[in-house]
Amino acid sequence: MVTRFAPSPTGYLHLGHAYSALFAEARARESGGRFLLRIEDIDQGRCRPEFEDAILQDLDWLGLGWETPVRRQSEHMEDYAQALERLDGLLYPCFCTRKEINEEIAEAARAPHGPDGPLYPGTCRDMDPAGRARLMAAGKPYALRLDMGRAMAAVPGLTWRDRERGTACADGRPFGDVVLARKDTPTSYHLAVTIDDHLQGVTLVTRGQDLYAATHVQRLLQGLLGLDTPGYHHHRLLGGPSGRRLAKRDQSLTIRALRRSGKSAAEVRALAGHP
Ligand code: GLU
Repeated sequence: MVTRFAPSPTGYLHLGHAYSALFAEARARESGGRFLLRIEDIDQGRCRPEFEDAILQDLDWLGLGWETPVRRQSEHMEDYAQALERLDGLLYPCFCTRKEINEEIAEAARAPHGPDGPLYPGTCRDMDPAGRARLMAAGKPYALRLDMGRAMAAVPGLTWRDRERGTACADGRPFGDVVLARKDTPTSYHLAVTIDDHLQGVTLVTRGQDLYAATHVQRLLQGLLGLDTPGYHHHRLLGGPSGRRLAKRDQSLTIRALRRSGKSAAEVRALAGHP
């Protein structure tokens, strides 16, 4: 059993992260397996070295141990580039700006929504090759999107299994033509996670239920790239005092703040539901 905790260094870890990290480590420990930590820092605009340092310190203080070296996504862009090459026939360049996409959605009579918001209307999907070549030659920035209809048709009948919810048939269509390589960084959350879980030999992906739907896209990418699929366990989300789920803005519930208020690591582990 190989599990991982994969935070993004965009803020301090809070009790919900502690729950998730301890959950992953417990699954590895109870089966005599391995627990990995991965730093998901592809979003260079939002990630900060001080948050990364804080993640390591906070997890260490909580009593977690992990294998080294820690994989940092920003150091592995070549792995993502190789995967993009293999998906080439199913990708297309999208030159749209966020503003153009929003305008097009606003004008549409009925704009379908997916788990991540309104779907991309497909503006650049059927652009003629000469037009594409012209924009590329002019240096217009572009993202690479997955043609979801063709991708789904290429690998029909994929399934995956969640330890709580059971078996699901992979269906990426609710996400539309997802971006696999962003304009500002030539990868994306879905691509990097899928490749990393494969390369690191993760056998059980544990994470919050808020990422359950994302697994449909990641399972599809596994199918397209010929990768094995791990098991999944999407766990409950820890609630804040008002009952809503915790977010990075809940500053009082960061591990740091709890520690500074005098709580011991054992007390914080207990607050995070891990006695
Ligand atoms: N980096 C993601 C986050 O912090 C989690 C990735 C994953 O577990 O798949 O929300």
